[in-house]
Order: sequence, then structure tokens, then C-alpha cells
Amino acid sequence: MKMVTSVSKMYKHRGNHFHRRSTKKYWHIIGYEYDDYEEEWKMFCEQVSWIKAIYYKCNKYKKFNLACPSCKNTYMLLVKKEKYLEKQECPECQESFKDLYEEYAENL
Ligand SMILES: [Zn+2]
Repeated sequence: MKMVTSVSKMYKHRGNHFHRRSTKKYWHIIGYEYDDYEEEWKMFCEQVSWIKAIYYKCNKYKKFNLACPSCKNTYMLLVKKEKYLEKQECPECQESFKDLYEEYAENL
């Protein structure tokens, strides 16, 4: 499942500073995808059509780093709205994350 955290118009080849005037910008989505094989979140960047860009703009996720008050482990969570954090639980000890969380790199 892809969790998009950022939608922006970018040049196809970033890092190439030699832009001609005809160079077009394309919509890109940046986000995280869970890798089942390596069991961790992987960042991705992908070019999409403008229709998809609008869809993802309305369905963006926010990234949070949550520290569990009980077992002291830190987890990365992606939620659409901050209020959803209240419902999240620590995957390790099932403690609620309600109180302790901090926003982490909103703009990636
Ligand atoms: Zn815990």
C-alpha cells in the first residue's frame, strides 16, 4: 500500500541544472510503501498523471514518529489526520499513543 505524503510538480530529472525553456514539469508523488520482504517502510517517488496528483492531494498522509511511553520503542506512523493518532496503539505492547507524539518532517 502506498501512503503519499507529498504531491508536487517537479522536473523529470532533478539534479540536472541545465534546463531548457521547453523543459516541462511533471506531477510527482512522494511517500512511503511498506516492503513486506524487508519488513520496513521504503520511500518512493513516482511520476503520475494530473488526475492522480489531484486524487493524492486529497488523500495525503502525515508522517509521525511516535515514542511508546511504555516500552520506549519508536514507530513511524502515517495518518491522514492528527486526530486519528488517538486511535493508534503500539504494535509491541498495545499501549495507546494518545499522549506522546511529535510531528516529524511534515515536508519531505
Ligand atoms: Zn509499546
